[in-house]
Amino acid sequence: MLNFIYDNKTTLIFGKGTQHEAGRLLKPFGKKILLHYGGGSIRRSGLYDSITASLKAAGVEYEELGGVQPNPTLPLVYEGIRLCREHGLGMVLAVGGGSVIDSSKAIALGVPYGGDVWDLYLSKKQPDFEPLPVATVLTIPAAGSESSPNTVITNEETRRKLGYGAPALRPVFSIINPELFFTLPHRQMANGVSDMMSHIFERYFTRTLHTDLSDGLCEATLRTIMRNARILNGNLHDYDAWAEIAFSGNIAHNNLLGVGREQDWACHAMEHELSALYHVDHGAGLAVVTPAWMKYVSPRHRDMFLQFSLNVMRVEGSCRETETIIREGIARLEGFYRELGLPTSMEELGIRPEDFPLMAEQAISVRGPVGGLERLDAEDVRNIYRLACR
Ligand code: NAP
Ligand code: FE
Repeated sequence: MLNFIYDNKTTLIFGKGTQHEAGRLLKPFGKKILLHYGGGSIRRSGLYDSITASLKAAGVEYEELGGVQPNPTLPLVYEGIRLCREHGLGMVLAVGGGSVIDSSKAIALGVPYGGDVWDLYLSKKQPDFEPLPVATVLTIPAAGSESSPNTVITNEETRRKLGYGAPALRPVFSIINPELFFTLPHRQMANGVSDMMSHIFERYFTRTLHTDLSDGLCEATLRTIMRNARILNGNLHDYDAWAEIAFSGNIAHNNLLGVGREQDWACHAMEHELSALYHVDHGAGLAVVTPAWMKYVSPRHRDMFLQFSLNVMRVEGSCRETETIIREGIARLEGFYRELGLPTSMEELGIRPEDFPLMAEQAISVRGPVGGLERLDAEDVRNIYRLACR
């Protein structure tokens, strides 16, 4: 196990009816806030009315900015920064999923920053200033941004989707009411499940030895996600299944499962190029890239992939060859994605092989070769994109 510091400042307020607490929880910060949200789901579900009523009842002043689109983009971030400066807003309340929360974090960074906030995503430099505090009301369990220190923003002009992370970006609190997920379309449930599983894979597959506890936590969380996703697959109104998924999605990316181990993140880096160029759903892109990555790297990491196949995918292991067990483990994962209606090939996403060279170059352009288990250069990434074709 590697040395680590684990510091997760995000308070979770979890359970039925908790969205009505938003105003009361924000009041002690003593700030005027920016209420930031997406394309309309919170208006249709009535959540917008609950939140604004709660803010008014607590006497919390706010301005609002809706319209965040999935894979959030820079222009709305700039608009949020402008609004905060103009109205003296000192905090951002994100009501939505990963896209709204990431856009909120970008605004929170940009308000006190002297330059263009996109520079931070390009340079990865840690801020030498305090970003505005961000709080969230989560409407889709998926990205884990409700307690992660990360934000991912797309620059449509340069067709780049880049992440940025700083401990100060962890939200101060996040409200998670699984009832709010009942309005999610099936496709978004599946995308979320794929994303949270990937957040665990990115930590689970490691070169670090002696990681028994976090291995076990990863495996239990993955099994919990798969079991409850199958329940939701048949009934999107099962509170208990959503509660398990939401808790798992949070654990998957609050980095408890990643401490003391070298992490991978190749699949996220490779997927970001799919989303950046083709606007595919992040979870759908991951369902395509992940099995291909596993097929590519597993021959050199048989112990890890055997453990995954036996302990997560529950492949029957007795008297069988390691390669067969691993192949079946990966096939079962693909089968699980298909059960949820997720794509498992580039063709299903409409991605053209002639773009693979550009996507591969872009994937390694910011930090060089990607991945911790194996360092993958542009040729490896191209090979993995090809393996993801039918
Ligand atoms: P999302 O992009 O925030 O939302 C997806 C869609 O779901 C939107 O169209 C949204 O509609 C709809 N939606 C959300 N809640 C709903 C509800 N309760 N009922 C009905 N519809 C609802 O999804 P996400 O998967 O959470 O976020 C994806 C983004 O997060 C990607 O850009 C990804 O790269 C990023 N990400 C970030 C991190 C991180 O740590 N920061 C980690 C992984 C991924 P409305 O717009 O109408 O609300
Ligand atoms: Fe993700």
